[in-house]
Amino acid sequence: MNLPVFVSGWLLALGQNGNSRPNIVFIMTDDHAAHAISAYGSKINTTPHIDQLAKEGMRLDRCFVTNSICTPSRAAILTGKYSHKNGVPVFNRFDGSQQTVAKLLQSAGYHTGMFGKWHLGSDPTGFDQWKILPGQGNYHDPVFYTATKKKKESGYCTDLITDFSIDFLEKRPTDKPFFLMCHHKAPHRDWQPRADKKAKWANKTVPLPETFDDDYSSRSDAAREATMRVADHLTANDVKLKPPEGLMGRDLKIWKYQRYMQDYLACVESVDDNIGRLMEHLDKKGLKENTLVIYTSDQGFFLGDHGWYDKRFMYEESLRMPFIARWPGKVKAGASSGDMVLNVDFAPTFLAAAGLPVPEDMQGKNSLGVLGGKAPQDWRTEMYYRYYHYPHDHRVQPHLGIRTLTHKLIHFNKIDQWELYDLTTDPGEMKNLIHEPNQEAKFKELKGRMLKLKKDLGDEDQFADKPPAAGVDGMPKNR
Ligand code: CA
Repeated sequence: MNLPVFVSGWLLALGQNGNSRPNIVFIMTDDHAAHAISAYGSKINTTPHIDQLAKEGMRLDRCFVTNSICTPSRAAILTGKYSHKNGVPVFNRFDGSQQTVAKLLQSAGYHTGMFGKWHLGSDPTGFDQWKILPGQGNYHDPVFYTATKKKKESGYCTDLITDFSIDFLEKRPTDKPFFLMCHHKAPHRDWQPRADKKAKWANKTVPLPETFDDDYSSRSDAAREATMRVADHLTANDVKLKPPEGLMGRDLKIWKYQRYMQDYLACVESVDDNIGRLMEHLDKKGLKENTLVIYTSDQGFFLGDHGWYDKRFMYEESLRMPFIARWPGKVKAGASSGDMVLNVDFAPTFLAAAGLPVPEDMQGKNSLGVLGGKAPQDWRTEMYYRYYHYPHDHRVQPHLGIRTLTHKLIHFNKIDQWELYDLTTDPGEMKNLIHEPNQEAKFKELKGRMLKLKKDLGDEDQFADKPPAAGVDGMPKNR
């Protein structure tokens, strides 16, 4: 790679060893909603190790995904671009020949590693070392792939991915900064905890969310069509036990919710333990001070909210990503921010942290200002969202939308129905205002702003009618 002159000069000034450049540890889980983290005020569990990171760093309260589903979010994170620009709008193969943050960091002298769930349908590129699960992978005794071999490992997936990450740190060349992507499979469906965690959670009663009994009465048809209701669509494999004889109606829905949450939160507990283990390793090796640590998840998740499991919809529980950043001396301990940061911002932010220029074609912004407690004056106050993956796997209608600091407008484009929410008076998004006569001006204003964002981001409906082949058929068997 030809580095710009000023970067080359800057590397020379560092004596080429780059030792003063920060290491970056990016820990990402799969489907871990912010409202299952006590640092975010969880009412259903505690996460002491993630909380510790938040105490030592910054918690972002408005970190959002631009397309709430696993594979597209991963592509957006790697490229700093929206789905319509990175070619991954659904669950389809990522073209690994394109520019990624891993490649740029590697070219600039970073030692790069990727461990755990990849799920992009092609081999990782830009990594000195990688070991990934095939597709979703298994929780127990999972198979992992490297560039040259396939091996079944014995143990629990979350523990193993941490082991591999620690091994990468132990064996790394110490004359280079490192970029580690530690990607947990947990707590993705079908929520299979480690035996001790499963036993611990088996008899716990988890409080119901406030919107558990949402009847979708003011929503578009999309909410009624979606097949992700706790009451009706969790499978026998998801709940794993037979419900007690004679249980019906809302009681049965609550029983299913409890089974779902017991296993989900037990999986989260292993994630939290392992974050503690990885942080302890960094501390022990003297790596804490010069390392930017991020904890996030590829999107949010419905934890019985609106009666659902899964994600996809632009509603808050699914749209919001947990995001905690620790970087001693650079990020104030115990801070939080309501500034809007998007998953497309991660790549530019990592490049900026490494002192590298952000390529002009990346659509995200360097959010170091936000993390430093001083967002630029012109920092964004609205974000654009677009979801494409229909009908699989849960019949969630394609939609696009805008979220501002106070409102959300969603257009379910195939059925041409709209939803409008005032997040200041209705944070749970229970009252769709689209048919309220006094909301017409707000609707027009937001629609105009949404279409401007769409245009500015170069979304020309590239995938609106014909998204690439999705699902298992569109992915190679082993990735
Ligand atoms: Ca996911």
